[in-house]
Amino acid sequence: MSDQGLFIVLSAPSGAGKSSICRRLLAACPEIEFSVSYTSRTPRPNEVNGKDYHFISREDFQRRIDQGEFVEWIENYGHFYGTSGKAMHEVLGKGKDLLLDIEPRGAKEIKKKFEDGIFVFVLPPSLDELLNRLKKRGHESPEAIKTRFTQAESELKEVLWYDYTVFNEDLETAARELIAIYRAEKCKTNRLHGKIDRFFKSC
Ligand code: 5GP
Repeated sequence: MSDQGLFIVLSAPSGAGKSSICRRLLAACPEIEFSVSYTSRTPRPNEVNGKDYHFISREDFQRRIDQGEFVEWIENYGHFYGTSGKAMHEVLGKGKDLLLDIEPRGAKEIKKKFEDGIFVFVLPPSLDELLNRLKKRGHESPEAIKTRFTQAESELKEVLWYDYTVFNEDLETAARELIAIYRAEKCKTNRLHGKIDRFFKSC
């Protein structure tokens, strides 16, 4: 019996430090693959096509929506973002684990469509601190910061339906908590039926 891979969905408002936490999880657990989303937004400096996102045009994105390629997709700040269903099934079908960095609307869609999966929300220490962090990033106009903050405030309420909450007061502690969540979930008996079966057959 082969075991399906496990997927982790990580959501957080902009400025909560999600990308740094994701990087630490992937570095500590190289067996996890990162789910590379499709987006119609343009790449930022340092972003690599095929690694951070698959950067495609709006027309290409729309065509893929029409062909049912996305297991979930949203329009955010005027740009499309979506997760390829085929890519997700391929990774999980091989028994590999997958990390999805997606916002709550998409996360909810995934929760509806898949039985399994771990849903983790990253919260900043406080709303004031979130605003400070958004301002410190320095690459956005005051209007853009205001828009992100307003969206963040409404996204934060979604935390209540997630399985786990990680407060990012300190990056290293938050990353350690996420790694601990993943490791504990991997040891759940109901995820190990294949391995347990093989164990008994080997006696
Ligand atoms: P950014 O443009 O800053 O990279 O991402 C903006 C937001 O879109 C983030 O909250 C990120 O988690 C979310 N996002 C990235 N890819 C996807 C995706 O495939 N689906 C959904 N629903 N959200 C995504």
